[in-house]
Amino acid sequence: MATLTHLECTKCGNKVSAKEPQTVCPVDGGSLYARYDFGPYIGKLNPQDFSSRTGSMWRYREVLPEVDPVSLGEGQTPMIPMRENPNVFIKDEGLNPTGSFKARGLSAAVTMCRAYGVKKIAIPSAGNAASALAAYAAAAGIEAHIFMPKDVPEANRVECIAYGAKVNLIDGLISDCAKIVNERKKDEGWFDISSLKEPFRVEGKKTMGYELADQLGWRLPDAIFYPTGGGVGLIGMWKAFDEMQELGWIGAQRPKMIAVQSAGCAPVVKAWEEGKSAVAMWPNAATLASGLRVPKPYGDYLILDVLKKSHGTALAVSDEEVVEAVHHWARVEGIFAAPEGAASLVAYRKLLASEFLAAHDSVVLFNTGSGLKYLDVLDPVWAAPRSVEPAKAEPAAKLAARHIGGIIGPY
Ligand SMILES: [Zn+2]
Repeated sequence: MATLTHLECTKCGNKVSAKEPQTVCPVDGGSLYARYDFGPYIGKLNPQDFSSRTGSMWRYREVLPEVDPVSLGEGQTPMIPMRENPNVFIKDEGLNPTGSFKARGLSAAVTMCRAYGVKKIAIPSAGNAASALAAYAAAAGIEAHIFMPKDVPEANRVECIAYGAKVNLIDGLISDCAKIVNERKKDEGWFDISSLKEPFRVEGKKTMGYELADQLGWRLPDAIFYPTGGGVGLIGMWKAFDEMQELGWIGAQRPKMIAVQSAGCAPVVKAWEEGKSAVAMWPNAATLASGLRVPKPYGDYLILDVLKKSHGTALAVSDEEVVEAVHHWARVEGIFAAPEGAASLVAYRKLLASEFLAAHDSVVLFNTGSGLKYLDVLDPVWAAPRSVEPAKAEPAAKLAARHIGGIIGPY
């Protein structure tokens, strides 16, 4: 296993000890990255060896902290070539424990909490991260305190209760949830596990980068479409590619990284189009893709940097397009995607039409979760009236928008 040597600020390069639980850089609040000594593996560890290993994302143990993992079988999700274009793969993260990609980050972060002896964890969440935290905290024997808006998808609320978490439904934005956690964490003894305010959710999410390279024979695709709320996976995969190059497994070539957002909450797209290096808070976030309701991601500077370095782009899609794409993937590919995931199909079509990409380009589209977690969101779209063909049902524009915004910092 690699030795976790220290944590490093992504803004100022400040080095912080990894021997105790850390949140953000004490100097400037920058997100901290885990750094390892890969020396013993360079030129010695053959990535092909991974293919004989079974199990979870922890099969990439040489690039993860050396600790006993809290695992529920996360990762190792299928990479399915699309029937419509076999150069395009759907990375189906809906098959993770708790039905979303959040399992990876929270497996890693809860693992480290247990290793550090943390007894209580708190999370402000838009939904799926709360479900994942609740499950991993249960598996670790750690108390989980959930703060989420009262209008989260039903599955998230029920799951958290089922896993025995202490659920607080807040009448307000998730930014209000984050404020409550921030105000109470010291007195309550909670460790704040918000995205990019602790170093190890990125480590879990980075396994998506290792895994897709592994599944493509250690070759990276031409482009990766990533539904971007907090953007931890996009950032994490980029970190993984740098590590893979350091280990000698790949060269300097990188995929174009494409951030996909909702037209009702597109702060990264706006900042990208304006050439900014940080995003402005998006007012009145409104989209049925609840995971994309993040008006100001804490790692905005990292997301925008990855888009720039990869020669990628950011684009927004409408709820109507997303609903059609959920139905299309289910009907044509047999994959019932989360709305956030289906957004990547819409974005791919747009970039194909604009000739940003060509049909022969190899592409990975991330489906971030299972459509089964959004039944109460999608049912009103398709079920009324039930006799109507779903794709021809009431347009999403007429639906009540789920206006509560998800936010990850800066609180
Ligand atoms: Zn710093």
